[in-house]
Amino acid sequence: MSDKAKIVFLGTSASTPTKNRGLNSVVIRFEGEWLLFDIPEGTQRQMMKSKVSYLKINHVFISHFHADHILGLSGLLATMNIHGRDWPITIYGPKGIEEKVDSMLKIAMLTPGFDVKTVEVKKGIILKEEKFSITATPLNHEIECFGYIFKEKDKEGEFNRQKAIKLGVPIGPLFSDLQKGKKVKVDGKTINPEDVLDVSKAKPGRKISLIFDTLPSKNYYKAIENSDILIHESSFLDQMKERAKETMHSTALQAGEVAKETNAKKLILFHLSARHKENEKFEHEARTAFPNVEVAKDLMEIEL
Ligand SMILES: [Zn+2]
Ligand SMILES: [Zn+2]
Repeated sequence: MSDKAKIVFLGTSASTPTKNRGLNSVVIRFEGEWLLFDIPEGTQRQMMKSKVSYLKINHVFISHFHADHILGLSGLLATMNIHGRDWPITIYGPKGIEEKVDSMLKIAMLTPGFDVKTVEVKKGIILKEEKFSITATPLNHEIECFGYIFKEKDKEGEFNRQKAIKLGVPIGPLFSDLQKGKKVKVDGKTINPEDVLDVSKAKPGRKISLIFDTLPSKNYYKAIENSDILIHESSFLDQMKERAKETMHSTALQAGEVAKETNAKKLILFHLSARHKENEKFEHEARTAFPNVEVAKDLMEIEL
């Protein structure tokens, strides 16, 4: 649990960019992996300003196919190609992602020198790595749209030297095998990694939930329960809740209610409509339902 997770907000605006806000996009950095969530136009320059290395991006998660979430993809792939990328990239997205990516490559007249894989997302775990997983949860928008949940693997405990010595494990390479979770044999006796764990050091892994365009709905509550950080779209203020309903978006107040209902530790609002100029209003409104709230700004970084 030593390595920090870092969240970088590349853009925070909904539908159209503004002078101060680029379109909505987020990166999570963890254990040397940079995970990109949505790739609207303008994302490349935001990456350069924020020192997110686009060459290190191997996984791109697309929430849905509205223009403010996907139009930057062909440009990013073109830049990767110019810089000689020769290892694969995987693009995750709703049904039809393969055709979307193909047509974006066609429009850009681009034949990358690297493999562009696509994964059609369904509810559940869509990426499982040694130390973390990404889960997709269906949202409630005009077209098929997914939220994504980053979850660090839970730590079941810490290796306890004294326990190992007591069980007769000789100090040396077998210690590191046990630490890596491997079984070892000592005098014909098998010792399991669980046998030498100090379970009092157990710790749940960090959880970061990203909820993109949606009318709030209970069908994603379970998936985002107990998030350390809940990043929730908040296109409108309560005064425009009718408009929010029509276009299947959330208000700041509703995002605050979701954070409260799902027991989040911290709420961050993003995907803000350019119609509302003052950020404080979003914050104040969400705070009436949930106290620990912040409005994302472009290039804002959070470590946890
Ligand atoms: Zn949007
Ligand atoms: Zn949308």
